[in-house]
Amino acid sequence: MSRSNILQPGELEEARGAIAEWHVPAVDLFLRREKRCRQLARQGNMLAAYLHFVARLCALQHEELQDSIAVARCDEATGQRSFVASPVLPQLWTLVRRLGTTLADTLPSAQRHLFGALPERAEPWFTEQVDALLAGHLPAAAGVVVATAPLTAAALQVAWTRQVRLCAQTLPPRHEESAVCPLCGGQPVAGVIVAAGPSKGLRYLHCGLCGSGWHVVRSKCSHCGGSQGLSYCTVQGLLEHVRAELCLTCRSYIKVMYQEQEPELEPLADDLATLALDLRMAEDGYLRSGTNPLFSPGPASSPV
Ligand SMILES: [Zn+2]
Ligand SMILES: [Zn+2]
Repeated sequence: MSRSNILQPGELEEARGAIAEWHVPAVDLFLRREKRCRQLARQGNMLAAYLHFVARLCALQHEELQDSIAVARCDEATGQRSFVASPVLPQLWTLVRRLGTTLADTLPSAQRHLFGALPERAEPWFTEQVDALLAGHLPAAAGVVVATAPLTAAALQVAWTRQVRLCAQTLPPRHEESAVCPLCGGQPVAGVIVAAGPSKGLRYLHCGLCGSGWHVVRSKCSHCGGSQGLSYCTVQGLLEHVRAELCLTCRSYIKVMYQEQEPELEPLADDLATLALDLRMAEDGYLRSGTNPLFSPGPASSPV
């Protein structure tokens, strides 16, 4: 990788206009994710069963993205940069129950009851789940709540992706780098180093909710903004295109994925498939910045 492709802090203003500040999610986002989950599961990943489950979920999300009436709403107070769920909660709740019913048919009977219990739950319970996921963490309670959280996250992803695709062209220009998604306010799941094209060598953080990517220079911590004490860590034998970027200043980490090494990568799927890296970081005392709404491996770093 050429050093000249890596923007330093302060160089962004100069470069702005020459690079894409964000990438809007592709219409086949969920199909690509489904394909990648199946590919990773076949490689004998420790989360293979869960990756197969997520693949089925992604296939349903793709159908819902075409048909769903659930569309996120922009926060009036902050303009189009932050979405709120409350106006569309009834539609989201309907979508979650539909996902649960469909997926329950594909699960072993021992697990089927987890989703089968969904209709008995009330909307306030669902609202708590949504609030927790939008705050960047899974609900704390055990049992059916944790089991069904991926369905709630999946419904939010459909609504958020749909809204971003509808309104991205009308968003006002952004004038600052951001630790959260500039299009929907979601947290990043990982960063991707682009392999080709005008953005070659640049880092784009990828939103765990709407699937957009946004540019953040590589030479600073995406969580605290510090540029001192960044280092990288991998786990031997794990997917080598995924590294943890550690910040000694704020003791957080975020995964960085190299497209040049793995053109097929999909940030959310490849994040799930590298759980061992999260376990290693937790052992070493680092907190994760950003989140994967479909799976939360441990304590997260608080917003700065
Ligand atoms: Zn987003
Ligand atoms: Zn930091």
